[in-house]
Amino acid sequence: MSDPHELKVLDPATEEIIATVPAATAEDVDAAVVRAGRAQTRWAALAPADRARLLRRFADTVDAHTEELAQLEVREAGHTVGNARWEAGNARDLLLYAAGGAERLLGSQIPAPGGWNVTFREPLGVIGVIAPWNFPMPIAAWGSFPALAAGNAVVLKPAETTPLTALRLAELALEAGLPEHVLQVLPGYGGTAGRALVDHPDVAKIVFTGSTRTGREVMERCARLVKPVTLELGGKSPNVVFADADLKAALDPFSFLDNAGQDCCARTRILVQESVLDEARAVLADALAAVVVGDPADEKTRMGPLISARQRDRVRSYVPEDAPALCGSAPDGPGFWFPPTVLTGERHDSPAAREEIFGPVAVLLPFTDEEDAVRLANDTPYGLSGSVWTRDVGRALRVSQAVRAGNLSVNSHSSVRYWTPFGGFKQSGLGRELGPDALTAFTETKNVFISTEGPAQ
Ligand code: NDP
Repeated sequence: MSDPHELKVLDPATEEIIATVPAATAEDVDAAVVRAGRAQTRWAALAPADRARLLRRFADTVDAHTEELAQLEVREAGHTVGNARWEAGNARDLLLYAAGGAERLLGSQIPAPGGWNVTFREPLGVIGVIAPWNFPMPIAAWGSFPALAAGNAVVLKPAETTPLTALRLAELALEAGLPEHVLQVLPGYGGTAGRALVDHPDVAKIVFTGSTRTGREVMERCARLVKPVTLELGGKSPNVVFADADLKAALDPFSFLDNAGQDCCARTRILVQESVLDEARAVLADALAAVVVGDPADEKTRMGPLISARQRDRVRSYVPEDAPALCGSAPDGPGFWFPPTVLTGERHDSPAAREEIFGPVAVLLPFTDEEDAVRLANDTPYGLSGSVWTRDVGRALRVSQAVRAGNLSVNSHSSVRYWTPFGGFKQSGLGRELGPDALTAFTETKNVFISTEGPAQ
């Protein structure tokens, strides 16, 4: 039973408690929103260049603490140290990118008879960010930093299992000189602190990342207040591999094993043209056997543990003992370990092939031709990400146009970059984060008409 007053943060590689953090109540959320509202008025009134300067100073402070932040992410989330360093750098780089946006939040001048018509981008006010546990630091940054740059204040609720890096980022913001209460982090439970943020009438927008089930509830509650919402939800992304592809590159197991598969963009449906299916099996078997799973703090480790016993049980429920599969290995003993696994005997409509497992488990499915590949790729309620592998440029273009997903890569498995838009089609979400328009999502457009006619005689 979890304690409603505090959060116990576990190291998922050892199951040891590494920190205990007070859990915010609905009253704490209310007080934080009131403080944020006051701070936001002053923050928005700063000259854009001053706001940008403070955010750049925040970036410098994060830069000076990247190793500390990375080590914290290793301990609270079990991320490999290499990944965690990248994540801390990503938070820093996004701050610099968003800071530039503060000075380029342009309106427009629209021709109008009898006067001048201009538009302004005004901040929304207080933004509620609800972050998940799979990428605690980057997702806290993606939701918060562009909002801050656009002149909003942020109240952020991290996941109950992973509050530490977000708390540290808020401390670093203060150290860098950001005004008090402009960025507040309130660890707590989703059912109390999360809901209180969603239901608060003075929270102007919610940015939510997590499961489709909870996202749907968040959207329903926002609808009651006509509150805008950005949703980054689940995925079951296809990796479409044609027979002419570079199979070794296309079947890189880190397309679904990165972060132990706890990645909404994981390419967990490996769709392979049937003429190269046997070869693909062999490539995957070798690749899985070579994956080093273990202590995430060890530089040689490529895959760490799952976040919790609950998540491990959930992942295990998709992999029956006797299921035909290709497998790597994982440590025994304490820690929430699960071996890299590719299920080879699934149908495309089985639960393992349709539902987001959020662990190091993918399914291998054959397709016949281009039309069949597109049909299978789209046969999912999700539409977040995906890859297309072929040496035929025309086919690559046709398939990437036909697949209904927000973030596709051709002959690559990359998907999230802070300078390009990120978000999902269908039940993978609503709205976009990151990219050149990231700040716009945290503004209202105001139109002002200025008459050039003299006063009526
Ligand atoms: P949730 O969607 O429940 O949690 C995400 C965030 O929402 C957490 O901060 C959580 O708080 C909070 N939350 C939970 N309930 C509410 C609520 N009613 N109102 C407001 N906020 C709420 O995901 P889970 O942690 O339960 O993970 C379950 C599954 O979701 C995973 O197995 C995976 O499939 C998917 N998932 C997808 C993610 C993605 O990036 N798309 C990220 C995380 C999960 P708390 O931590 O207290 O629960």
